[in-house]
Formats: sequence, C-alpha cells, structure tokens
Amino acid sequence: MDLIALIKERARHHNCLSCSRALAGCEVTLLSQDRSHCTVSVTCASCGVSFIAVILLRRRPHPEGAPAGIDSAISGDELVDLHQRLRDHRGRLTDLLAAPPRR
Ligand SMILES: [Zn+2]
Repeated sequence: MDLIALIKERARHHNCLSCSRALAGCEVTLLSQDRSHCTVSVTCASCGVSFIAVILLRRRPHPEGAPAGIDSAISGDELVDLHQRLRDHRGRLTDLLAAPPRR
C-alpha cells in the first residue's frame, strides 16, 4: 500500500475539521515528504474544505538500534511554528512550499 492510499484509509477514522463528518472518500495530495514526516492537503468529500496535515512517519525500530544517519524527530517547537504559519497564512496552500520560513 502506498503512502497516499494508507493516509486515505486511515482518514476515514477521523472527522473533518469543518463539517465534522468522517473523512471517508477525501482527496489527499502529497505536498512534501521527508524521512520523518510528510505534509498533505486533505479535501473533505462532504463539504469540500481543504486543510493541511503534517503526518509523522515512524519506522519500526531496528533490532540492533537506530541505524546511522537517522535524522532527529520533529520537535514540539517546530510543530508550533508550523501551526502558527498555517494559521496566519492567507492564500493558496502551495504558496507555502515556495515561501522561505518565517523567523
Ligand atoms: Zn467537511
């Protein structure tokens, strides 16, 4: 199962932030992907509202410990920064991908 199919399958267990209906049948577009997380645009099949979700990707622990070169997890501060950026953004979601991070 690919990542988008997995996210769609899991989304049906969550409710839309706008209309509160289950997100079954939602559209999911991958905006960016890194080793530890991905950013997707989710569009509700019921009301059509789109929102961005950041999904942490967790790999199964290696039986001999973490392999060399594994990046650190996203910090709480980084998630707060992302939340504030998304909250204050006006415009197209794809504009965020081209904009430099705010400080
Ligand atoms: Zn909705």
